[in-house]
Amino acid sequence: MRIILIGPPGAGKGTQCQRLVEQLKVPHLSTGEMLRAEVRSGTAEGLRAASFMEQGHLVPDSMILGMVTKRLEAADCRAGFLLDGFPRTLPQASALDELLERRAMSVDGVLELSVPSEELVRRMLARRRADDNPEVFAKRIASFEAQTAPLLHYYDQQGKLATIDGLGDADEVFARVQRALVRFGRRAPRT
Ligand code: AMP
Repeated sequence: MRIILIGPPGAGKGTQCQRLVEQLKVPHLSTGEMLRAEVRSGTAEGLRAASFMEQGHLVPDSMILGMVTKRLEAADCRAGFLLDGFPRTLPQASALDELLERRAMSVDGVLELSVPSEELVRRMLARRRADDNPEVFAKRIASFEAQTAPLLHYYDQQGKLATIDGLGDADEVFARVQRALVRFGRRAPRT
């Protein structure tokens, strides 16, 4: 299955992704993780990415697309994948569609983890990651609203969007995710 998980920072994507990849036995493709690995290895690309990430801004599409294209071409992605944190902009979404189309593939479904912003702030204050200072966090939420939220409409128009209530404990949320997967499965074309 080819699935995308979309949600604002602090929505619980990490936890749900972990469970999903175990269940679906597909690779977990997190662009945030890929970027953090680049930053740790101290490459020029990594340093450039860090300057955007530290400020709560998105890294330019050109950097992300090269990275994702390479990863999606790997053999382990042939049977499916779970994309986490990508696409985050409309140009990224259409680039992904084109990339998959060239391989006669498409996304099976998009899961949106929906959490109100007051709850996101509460969770952020409780967990405190390096890029989670309140100012940077607010910028990350703002960039989600401005650049990523339009993707929900994009995928809804394609009939691929399932909005999941992200409130409650991880088990409850995962049960909702399961129901959405059944719907995706029913709709997926037979190959
Ligand atoms: P994440 O772990 O997905 O929250 O990503 C951490 C940071 O990496 C984000 O705040 C962005 O600065 C950057 N990033 C991750 N994925 C993308 C993407 N698809 N497009 C642009 N920037 C990204």
